[in-house]
Amino acid sequence: MTARRSITKAKEPAKPRTSAKAKAVPKSAPDVAQEKRRMATILRRLHKEYPDSQCSLLFDKPLQLVLATILSAQCTDERVNMVTPHLFARYPTAQDLADAELADVEEIIRSTGFYRNKARNLVGCAQHIAMHHKGEVPKTLEELVALPGVGRKTANVVLGNAFGIPGLVVDTHVTRISNLLQLTDSKDAVKIEHALMPITARKEWSNLAHLFIDHGRKVCVARRPQCDVCVLNNLCPSSQV
Ligand code: SF4
Repeated sequence: MTARRSITKAKEPAKPRTSAKAKAVPKSAPDVAQEKRRMATILRRLHKEYPDSQCSLLFDKPLQLVLATILSAQCTDERVNMVTPHLFARYPTAQDLADAELADVEEIIRSTGFYRNKARNLVGCAQHIAMHHKGEVPKTLEELVALPGVGRKTANVVLGNAFGIPGLVVDTHVTRISNLLQLTDSKDAVKIEHALMPITARKEWSNLAHLFIDHGRKVCVARRPQCDVCVLNNLCPSSQV
């Protein structure tokens, strides 16, 4: 890959003047404004490119999305979608799954990989929801990440897709493409989330991951990005064209 071009490099901030007003302006303000505009353009183009972009895990209610997202670790969404209809039919409520035999759950989800650990998390998560939340999935990040098997990424998936509460999901595609676009220089999911939030319209937080995932699967593919057909190539410092 060629060296990154610094097309987004902002002008050096002007030397502060002596007035109190000038000193009060944060140094990063022009960068944020510029990056907000660039992000808005990126998302507008990706929306046009992937108009049907959405969560690819199948679910009818929040509990099902929590369970499907736990199962999706190290597994394709397609495989998860093959397994979950059986799981959801066998255990329709959190209490049903909370009372399940671990071996029965393991058998149902075996093909998703890491099935012993995942089964423990599914049942533990259901027990926590049944015991502490009256069988309903909680709606805050803090409560969600307290559930067994639920990290920040799963919590944001659930907030955004089951409850319509903006949540910015950082997965491998978001990490990779955000770095290629130089929207961040971090590989740490929490740092990336905090770098993207200030430059992304709140209503787009949940869409961003779906769009970046689609783009990462179809065009900006790991190790062989197709920059020549990428709608972001004139906005991307890593473009090879
Ligand atoms: S495919 Fe697009 S986003 Fe990915 S590196 Fe190339 S120009 Fe950048």
